[in-house]
Amino acid sequence: MATKQRVTRRGLLKTAASAAAAGAALGPSVALGQAPAVVTARTFRAWVSRGTGRNRTTLQELRLRPVTGRQVVVRTEATNLCYSNAGLVLGLQDPPAATGNTAGALAAGTANMALIQGHGGVGVVEAVGPEVRRVQVGDRVCVSGTPQCGACYHCLRGRADVCQLLGRNLPSDLVPIADQRDGTPVYSNSHIGGLAELMVTFEEWVVPIVSKAAPADLGMVLGCVSVAGLGATVSGTLATVEPGSTVAIVGCGPLGLSAVQGARIAGASTIIAIDPIRMRRDVAVKVGATHVLDPNVEGARIIERVRALTGGPTTRAWSGGRDSGGRRSGAGADLVVEAAGAELVKPKLESGPDPTGIQPMQQAYEMCSASGHVITTGLVRGTIALPAFLFAIGGISHHGGQAGGANPMRDIPRFVELLHAGRYDARMLVTRVVGLQDMIAAYEEVAYRTTVTAIMVV
Ligand SMILES: [Zn+2]
Ligand SMILES: [Zn+2]
Repeated sequence: MATKQRVTRRGLLKTAASAAAAGAALGPSVALGQAPAVVTARTFRAWVSRGTGRNRTTLQELRLRPVTGRQVVVRTEATNLCYSNAGLVLGLQDPPAATGNTAGALAAGTANMALIQGHGGVGVVEAVGPEVRRVQVGDRVCVSGTPQCGACYHCLRGRADVCQLLGRNLPSDLVPIADQRDGTPVYSNSHIGGLAELMVTFEEWVVPIVSKAAPADLGMVLGCVSVAGLGATVSGTLATVEPGSTVAIVGCGPLGLSAVQGARIAGASTIIAIDPIRMRRDVAVKVGATHVLDPNVEGARIIERVRALTGGPTTRAWSGGRDSGGRRSGAGADLVVEAAGAELVKPKLESGPDPTGIQPMQQAYEMCSASGHVITTGLVRGTIALPAFLFAIGGISHHGGQAGGANPMRDIPRFVELLHAGRYDARMLVTRVVGLQDMIAAYEEVAYRTTVTAIMVV
């Protein structure tokens, strides 16, 4: 039974006063957005990217702007250095000209904006706008790479992973959150940022978490990549890993290695991890892979290799077995998670057979069982080609989505519990932890793939 607390008028006034000081929502009077902005007059350090070339990202001291509406200020504890952001942080390639595709237009449009890169992390809420309800000052939170408004067309259909706010990150959508010393306004990548002492976001991107775990461990399990890997295997949104089933993971970066862990957690009996980098295959075995394959060694036979490994104890079709002959083979993985993606720069460790990521994506489809599921997560540009017969009536279910289908408010707290229970091994994946000052050097390691992943702890 809950302890009964005495409510006094003085106590209520005290609570209201401290809530007002913290900028928390105070009730109906602020529902019309009339409440004043929260001014913290705070300065903070941030890695700001602007222009082109290798030195486009520099450490700056910024002054935070007043916080309004549904904005949330989070003091960063940890953020993962996501491979997908490496090009823009390090200036490895000039932002592509606006080519009509969203990503190209986005990068070109933001090239001359002062922008804090990164997309999420974990931290503690330092201030909230007057309309914020989801979190309070002092809460430990995950700033999710994927927002969840809970009210849009997709959120209402159980697909929070493709919440429509996700696409509201064009240059014209961004709002300045701070100013440089010379008065230049500074924006956050995708409304979140991460490579800074503060993340200024909106409440739709923030998920409260209750945890005493170390920042680097939480930053790992709740990074965009881990959420996607666990989302694909344990969230159950896109497909379900049945106990005793067979799973193939194509690509063993932090996303694929989190999917390996998710497949183990969900009870898969055969987990095949595929990656050209030996160090990553070694980690895959340590976190749950039962088999590893090197695509450089296997070549085009890799599909047959996966089929052979997932064949099951008998090929007698009448006995529930998998018949590997005929035009309708019974072999193939029950679930394939494609997590290879395209190479941004040539890795200093082993390179894969196809740096565009197209071939691994096609192979992922073809190594799936006729009654199985394929989840794609890799950032690949171009066009994939699949045998039309297989695609049309082959029986394979393909699922594309953001974050492996993870539903942030539902799944992120579950992933924290997997960390607490020792079922998700964060430390095997965090092969580099750095402070704010050493971010660039660690990002080089991520870009050239000499580390599995890196976490910046602030
Ligand atoms: Zn990411
Ligand atoms: Zn939504």
